[in-house]
Amino acid sequence: MVMKDEKLESIYQDVLRRNPGEAEFHQAAREVLESVGPVLAKYPEFRERKIIERIIEPERQIIFRVPWQDDKGEVHVNRGFRVQYNSALGPYKGGLRFHPSVYLGIIKFLGFEQIFKNALTGLPIGGGKGGSDFDPKGKSDDEIMRFCQSFMTELWRYIGEHTDVPAGDIGVGGREIGYLYGQFKRLTSRYEAGVLTGKGLDYGGSLVRTEATGYGATFFVEEMLKVRKDSFDGKRCVVSGSGNVAIYTVEKIHQLGGKVVACSDSNGYILDEKGIDLELVKQLKERERRRIKDYVEYRKHARYVDGGNIWEIPCQVAMPSATQNEINGKDAALLVKNGCIAVGEGANMPTTPEGIQVFLQAGIAYGPGKAANAGGVATSALEMQQNASRDSWTFEYTEKRLANIMKNIHQTCFETAEEFGAKGNYVVGANIAGFIKVAKAMVAHGLI
Ligand code: NDP
Repeated sequence: MVMKDEKLESIYQDVLRRNPGEAEFHQAAREVLESVGPVLAKYPEFRERKIIERIIEPERQIIFRVPWQDDKGEVHVNRGFRVQYNSALGPYKGGLRFHPSVYLGIIKFLGFEQIFKNALTGLPIGGGKGGSDFDPKGKSDDEIMRFCQSFMTELWRYIGEHTDVPAGDIGVGGREIGYLYGQFKRLTSRYEAGVLTGKGLDYGGSLVRTEATGYGATFFVEEMLKVRKDSFDGKRCVVSGSGNVAIYTVEKIHQLGGKVVACSDSNGYILDEKGIDLELVKQLKERERRRIKDYVEYRKHARYVDGGNIWEIPCQVAMPSATQNEINGKDAALLVKNGCIAVGEGANMPTTPEGIQVFLQAGIAYGPGKAANAGGVATSALEMQQNASRDSWTFEYTEKRLANIMKNIHQTCFETAEEFGAKGNYVVGANIAGFIKVAKAMVAHGLI
């Protein structure tokens, strides 16, 4: 489909030509371009200063070799990435993803989305993302440590508390951040806690950071439901994935009175009509690093479906929390047909453009990732604040700040969508509100 605005269509054609083969990046760029037409009419200086052309081009892209040895002494070579996308609002900020599917197009899509997400938080952070095509599955602790050390042996030159502050994402949790931080400290002889977020609580981490993305996404859905005079109470929910985001999404939904009946990993899903036993999932996934299918060994009434599509399970609230493009047009139609009234994206870009159209046309509450999952990076920014002031806040205080930030993001997206003639469309609201904030700062900084 060709965009209505010819200039935007031509910018998109340039994106395709200059970034061949990067399908996920094309998808993320197109979604933003499709939203910002009305902004250019209101702010002609953005067009004159070529803000869109500049925002779409990363400030800096770093690609490096990561050699490491496994426990048998065999040598492996992976590829490392850090895309420093936009620093108009603060130091580059965004996670590191370790997954075999990682290539430049994935890191660029994530980095591009991160610019607008970070702007929405209202905190002083720019956008970036990084990672590697390293597969942490089945690796020993020592292998993970050696890989992280090798990765940081190159990355340390480009990061710093005022420059670029990485965090976790798929395949990068507290263990990996610990090894990365240790190596950074060794190479630089600096105890610069603010250089990474998602750190352990013993060495500068923030309470609630582990829970933040899942809790935040659930708060966002709660706000969308409130607009519709509804709540989580008694709702049947499905949450895909069983990693960091999924686990704390389930936890918060249960605290708010909803019932999550299914979650998954890349092999299949579990269905537990009595409600997911979260302590068991934490034991299997966080402590023992096992597969989700093992759940049914302990809960005989539950069912494991190998290779199954989790979106076939009827639910009122769906929270995709695994990976990009996990809900296609067909899945979306099935969710709507089965009575789904709200979708909140814990994952980044989990719904395809066709799926998004289905949700918008059905008029259900649809919270896109760049708004709904911003609680993770927002709490990372709170971790940076605590590091800068050498302070540590209580769980209650930090969670309250997170809840407030999510409320504000929801309100900003809701009001911006209404202002630009798209009431109830959080995609338009999030893209426009994030874009305006970054664009104004870029205009102020001059042509750089
Ligand atoms: P984890 O590595 O902790 O968990 C990822 C989960 O998703 C696992 O259950 C994994 O299953 C599943 N998964 C990953 N890749 C695929 C795939 N290709 N197909 C099917 N399932 C898959 O990562 P997070 O929970 O941190 O991240 C999940 C999503 O949330 C990502 O999209 C991430 O970008 C996004 N996000 C994360 C934030 C954070 O703070 N961590 C912040 C904002 C967004 P398996 O174990 O089988 O691979």
